[in-house]
Amino acid sequence: MGEAVMRRQVVIGGFGAAGCSLALALLQGGLSTKDILIFDSAPDAGGAPKGPDARILALNSGSCTLLRALGVWEALSPHAHPLNSMAISDSPLEEPFRPALLDIAPREYGAPLAQMVPLGILNDSLRAATRAAGIEVITAQLKALSFAGERAHLTLAGPAGEMQVEAQLVAACDGANSPLRVAAGLSTHGWMYGQSGICATIRHSLPHGGEAVQHFLPSGPFALLPLDEHRSSIVWSEKTALAEEMIHADDATFRREVERRAAGVRGEIEAVECRSAHPLQLKLARRFFAQRLVLVADSAHVVHPLAGQGLNLGFEDVAALAEVIVDRMRLGLDPGAADALERYQALRRPAAVAMAVATEGINRLFSNDFGPLRILRDVGMGLANRFPGFKAGMVKAAAGRTPFSPRLFRGEPL
Ligand SMILES: Cc1cc2nc3c(=O)[nH]c(=O)nc-3n(C[C@H](O)[C@H](O)[C@H](O)COP(=O)(O)OP(=O)(O)OC[C@H]3O[C@@H](n4cnc5c(N)ncnc54)[C@H](O)[C@@H]3O)c2cc1C
Repeated sequence: MGEAVMRRQVVIGGFGAAGCSLALALLQGGLSTKDILIFDSAPDAGGAPKGPDARILALNSGSCTLLRALGVWEALSPHAHPLNSMAISDSPLEEPFRPALLDIAPREYGAPLAQMVPLGILNDSLRAATRAAGIEVITAQLKALSFAGERAHLTLAGPAGEMQVEAQLVAACDGANSPLRVAAGLSTHGWMYGQSGICATIRHSLPHGGEAVQHFLPSGPFALLPLDEHRSSIVWSEKTALAEEMIHADDATFRREVERRAAGVRGEIEAVECRSAHPLQLKLARRFFAQRLVLVADSAHVVHPLAGQGLNLGFEDVAALAEVIVDRMRLGLDPGAADALERYQALRRPAAVAMAVATEGINRLFSNDFGPLRILRDVGMGLANRFPGFKAGMVKAAAGRTPFSPRLFRGEPL
């Protein structure tokens, strides 16, 4: 007797933020729980798959609107902190006075620039909502992938052995190293930055008033992002060797190094609550789809965290893909057909390329101490700071809510 085959409309690889939000969005668009299957090699790991993760993400207005529509925001809101304004500076470490090159003030825009949400809590809330909705989640990893007829065929290996699964569409939400992307033969370009992002939560003596500070140093940007009034999240990009040293340093040494970089803007650093380091890379898939497979979020693009846009891009992928799938299924069309996947790529790849280019450019321009370049960038930023139209445009684009944003990002029903 042949092995039983599980058949689904959509199979999602990855039970992280992207995978869960896609499943919930598809349910909202009219698919049933029987249409969707999620598999993940470590579905119960909190935050990142390996070890503790001190990442607290800045989620833009579009992402928060999506999470509200998916019914997840209520569980997140007690843990979310508004980021109301931002000051950007680049003076050398030793200089006591740090004039802001660019400042974006709250009253100019009337809404927070972002909400700070811990990644572990975000993933846990999305996972709980996905399970509560009745979507099947299995522990398994990919052994083989092929495409034939109008189906993708997956062989998955789980604790109980191998299983065969067929789907009209496979969504790769399995992160930066995406085994699904590799199995589908989709190549990427990019490089390691030689920098790691040190994330930490600190307590300090002075209140932050909802202000974020981004200070550009030759080794990489150092950001203080507001949590509750006397706590901040740090994202400190540093050469990888020093980042490793900092992660293993004792608390007093770590606090001293943070204080040097914060230059007193938050007063005394009283405690460090948690820290983790993440090697930084730029990775962009050359194509966002293969036959009956699409790349979503980090499986498609990984950008430098200096603009806090990685998962915001990913959530917009989710909202756009859900829209493409649901619109086609309402017309009785195949959601995994090539024209649907081309449409998704046309909607999302240009945005990912633009963000990769922007973060790459900013990192190169600021992460060095070459005198003439410093003068040039300071003049450029000074001019930008004087043009409210420029700042407003930048804020609108970063908020992820333009007339071209997908419906779930604009607060409209799917
Ligand atoms: C320092 C730093 C700061 C950041 N700050 C921000 C920010 O402020 N704002 C923002 O928007 N973004 C930020 N990001 C980016 C953000 O963290 C990521 O974009 C996001 O976490 C990726 O989510 P994901 O669901 O795509 O992937 P992941 O969270 O990596 O999930 C992938 C899932 O796939 C599963 N998986 C992996 N391998 C397999 C396999 N072989 N088989 C089956 N399943 C598998 C994993 O178990 C996991 O559940 C930051 C990133 C860094 C490094």
